[in-house]
Amino acid sequence: MNDEFDYDLFVIGAGSGGVRAARMAAGKGQKVAVAEERYLGGTCVNVGCVPKKLFVYASQFPELLHASKGFGWNMPELPTLDWATLRDNKTAEIERLNGIYNSLIDNSGAHLFDGRATITGPHLVEVNGETFRARVILVATGGWPYIPVFPGSEHAISSNEMFFLDSLPETALVVGGGYIAVEFAGILNGLGVDTHLIYRGPNLLKSFDREMSEKVKEGMIAKGVTIHLNTEVNGIIKTDSGLRVALTGQPDMDAGIVLYATGREANTANLGLEKTAVVLGKNGAIVVDDNFCTADSSVYALGDVIGRVQLTPVAIQEAMVLVDHLYGDGAAVIDYTGIPTAVFCQPELGTVGLGEEEARAEYCDISVYTSDFKPMLQTLGGGTDRITMKLVVDNVSDRVIGCHMVGDHAAEIIQGMGIALKAGATKAHFDATVGIHPSAAEEFVTMSEKSR
Ligand SMILES: Cc1cc2nc3c(=O)[nH]c(=O)nc-3n(C[C@H](O)[C@H](O)[C@H](O)COP(=O)(O)OP(=O)(O)OC[C@H]3O[C@@H](n4cnc5c(N)ncnc54)[C@H](O)[C@@H]3O)c2cc1C
Repeated sequence: MNDEFDYDLFVIGAGSGGVRAARMAAGKGQKVAVAEERYLGGTCVNVGCVPKKLFVYASQFPELLHASKGFGWNMPELPTLDWATLRDNKTAEIERLNGIYNSLIDNSGAHLFDGRATITGPHLVEVNGETFRARVILVATGGWPYIPVFPGSEHAISSNEMFFLDSLPETALVVGGGYIAVEFAGILNGLGVDTHLIYRGPNLLKSFDREMSEKVKEGMIAKGVTIHLNTEVNGIIKTDSGLRVALTGQPDMDAGIVLYATGREANTANLGLEKTAVVLGKNGAIVVDDNFCTADSSVYALGDVIGRVQLTPVAIQEAMVLVDHLYGDGAAVIDYTGIPTAVFCQPELGTVGLGEEEARAEYCDISVYTSDFKPMLQTLGGGTDRITMKLVVDNVSDRVIGCHMVGDHAAEIIQGMGIALKAGATKAHFDATVGIHPSAAEEFVTMSEKSR
């Protein structure tokens, strides 16, 4: 670094992408600073993936306990949930992870600023009243839940507050049809809350394979979630006992909480970007080129704030590609196709590649293989769960171009399928693979009859 700059790289935001970029750049001998205004580890660690998955685990115990009876276990009395214990144990685990992130940054040699950073011009960052000159500024400020403004919208809460509720309500309304909405509907339902999912559109999880989204919907209903499609919230008023929610075409409903999970917007407000040439796109997302450079050559951005694929592993991979571009040989590239992903709703959805509808639009000749069956746990355990699997195959190349699953362990199974699809596996490769028996996953290598 020459004396012109205090830092080679100044990262704003210590979330999934920012921390990875800072650590890797410091590892390559760069002088690095990171500023974090709220919590180390960002959304994923504090109010996203990690606490959500802990809550998903918590919400699955009632069904497992119910299933255990068929395997000979006697339940002397119905177990009850102590919400405060779950919430506080979750928070303690998150604090442990915050400490790990602190050590990771420290040990990398990057300097951590505890405070909100703003950009005061090209190459200039201000934090805690001090201004620093940085050769490169990296904006990795993530996103924030968006709640539309309507009468009574101030009574609605976002996913952020869900992790810190004082108590669980008897009834909850979850508004939205995307992955965060269906995940929280499953969590609340599993924890014993009378849960209603309200969505203004006709289909939940609309960016996923339609048949799989339908299976999720059917599974959620079978587990006890009440789903109201084509329904909108007109207003919320506070009553003596909680909240009264006015809905289109339906009687008002009373609920203890109204959770809005209707989208997230990029965290770009009041960041000082107007003092640079940075250009913002849809939902305030920062526009970047293939190397994550903005319209201002001193400012780069990645992760949720660029609004491409809002997932933790994507933010991390973008960070690795950026560091290679800035301080390595620049050979690394990010491929946004074939990203495996899971929705931790109940039943769980795992998917990689194209959905059937997308495949039909992109390919002229495809085959679809499906399988729908009762999981082995249910044979003695009872319960309503089913497992559905789907392979979408391009008949011209025989390549498997889509792989989808609804049911237990879908995320774990689809991760491996992601490697197969990345490697260009054909249906013949799937057929030649020996299954693991007895498992649900073996169905993926034994589907021989085309469904269509
Ligand atoms: C409820 C929920 C569940 C999710 N579940 C999953 C999942 O299961 N799997 C998955 O892959 N992804 C999931 N995600 C998405 C995932 O959390 C994000 O994609 C990921 O955290 C993005 O990382 P990031 O580095 O871009 O931003 P973030 O992790 O959001 O980090 C940004 C950081 O910047 C800080 N910051 C912002 N402005 C400033 C400033 N001016 N100065 C200093 N610091 C600042 C913020 O406080 C924050 O810590 C979930 C998200 C939510 C909300």
